[in-house]
Amino acid sequence: MVLRDVAVVGAGATGTAAVVNLVRSGVAQRIDVFEPGAIGHGDAFSSTDPALLCNTSADSMSLDAGRPGDFVDYLHGLGMPVAPQDCVPRYLFAQYCRDRYLGLRSEASTRGVRLRHHRDKVASVAGAGPGYALLTEGGAEWPADAVMLCMGVDAWTPPVVRPFWCHPGVVPASALGSTSTLPRDARVLVLGSRLSAVDAVILLGRSGCRVQVASPSGTLPSVRTRMYPSDRGSLTALAGHPWVGTTDAAQADRFVAGLVRGLAGHGRPHLRDQLSLADDPVERLRAEIAIAEEGHNFWQELTVEFIALTNEWLLRQPPAAWQDFWEIVEGVLDRYISAMPVDNAKKLLSLADAGRLEVRGRRPAELFRTGGRWAMTWQDGSCDRFDAVVYATGYRPPALRCAGGRLLLGERRRGAPPAVSADLRVDLGRDADERVFAVGQCSATRVPLVHGVVAVVPQISHVMRQLRALPAGGRRGVSDDG
Ligand SMILES: Cc1cc2nc3c(=O)[nH]c(=O)nc-3n(C[C@H](O)[C@H](O)[C@H](O)COP(=O)(O)OP(=O)(O)OC[C@H]3O[C@@H](n4cnc5c(N)ncnc54)[C@H](O)[C@@H]3O)c2cc1C
Repeated sequence: MVLRDVAVVGAGATGTAAVVNLVRSGVAQRIDVFEPGAIGHGDAFSSTDPALLCNTSADSMSLDAGRPGDFVDYLHGLGMPVAPQDCVPRYLFAQYCRDRYLGLRSEASTRGVRLRHHRDKVASVAGAGPGYALLTEGGAEWPADAVMLCMGVDAWTPPVVRPFWCHPGVVPASALGSTSTLPRDARVLVLGSRLSAVDAVILLGRSGCRVQVASPSGTLPSVRTRMYPSDRGSLTALAGHPWVGTTDAAQADRFVAGLVRGLAGHGRPHLRDQLSLADDPVERLRAEIAIAEEGHNFWQELTVEFIALTNEWLLRQPPAAWQDFWEIVEGVLDRYISAMPVDNAKKLLSLADAGRLEVRGRRPAELFRTGGRWAMTWQDGSCDRFDAVVYATGYRPPALRCAGGRLLLGERRRGAPPAVSADLRVDLGRDADERVFAVGQCSATRVPLVHGVVAVVPQISHVMRQLRALPAGGRRGVSDDG
């Protein structure tokens, strides 16, 4: 069946991938893309600084489900000698999204599909007759037969820095470019120790700053040389086991043990040679760089398969059955799933060896201004002074609530988070088989591992299959011959 109008809400990487696959699948006559900013940028890929690298291999970042090597082909088309496993600068991915989108406009018109970009935010989605009505913040109303929600995450501001929101000395990592006025040798606190914190350290270190990274875990991401789809099969034994469907913590332990068995043996390096358990974060970084450079970190070859299998299994379980389970597993595995590229790791290590980076496990208590500097008191009672504070404290799922049969976007207080089905359909609280689909972070209440292009594109394929399978003559849609 061909639908008349499909609306795509949000066009970062996920929304752009949705548009690419919608145009090529031929399921829509009109595609309305709602994105207030540039197509394909989002928070992750909007920086133009070449020092900021993707943490996934180019070969895992195709927007097109039918052409897995599309990003690599694009880079080759630019004359760049990129290998499939390379982690390229992130701005190249934004450029790829934009160029593919621009190319799609003529492809769409050749296929008889009208593709429009509305530079507006959607405020709500409500059922309207057999379809939907989207109301934008600009006050326009648009009809749709199906909606794909692709809004991505919101940066989270920790309470300790909220009183200084908008102060030029306390900035989110994503706005770090604006602090380049910091003097050389400025002492900067980076709150958070995950990938955005790694980016912040690289930019600050390049400007000659001295950096303290602080987070409750005091743990940096692990190190990998690549993350791209390799042959599936190593984790098949895990897939067959009924790990989930229980909140029993012991199941989570057994799951991890099963994963560990998949990682070692069969001529692979022993697990103790793949990992470092050093307590000191800098020594662990040093050891993990060496492991990665020697090619002993076999776990990196299984990451894509692990993400796919985990999403497949857990999607089949009721959310209440897997969320506790997943919390435990994620606590162990997150630093490997979200590992940093080895080139970034080496930059961090050279800063640490030069005495310009320290990594601490500590919780902030209070931030205040004193003598022209920032004083941070920590929950252990100690206090440190800094010239600037950068927070890289992570993200929260998109603001999305359901109230009175309407979906409210950008809303966190009214209504309740909508239920998402195993088929990624959003429940509007009506007695209807809805055609509003949650993709990427919008599906995070239902799908555990959605923070990467490699996890999102299969979701989009799944939605395309459902759109194609819709019965002719339903709702506002028209049949292929109509
Ligand atoms: C610093 C960083 C680095 C990353 N690096 C990688 C990487 O190397 N590889 C990888 O695979 N993944 C990476 N990720 C994960 C990354 O977030 C996802 O892969 C991908 O960018 C998510 O895209 P998205 O479109 O879902 O969300 P976003 O990029 O957040 O885009 C969401 C879009 O929705 C729009 N929007 C929001 N609300 C509305 C509304 N109401 N109406 C209309 N539009 C709206 C926003 O303007 C935005 O453009 C990284 C993430 C971060 C934060």
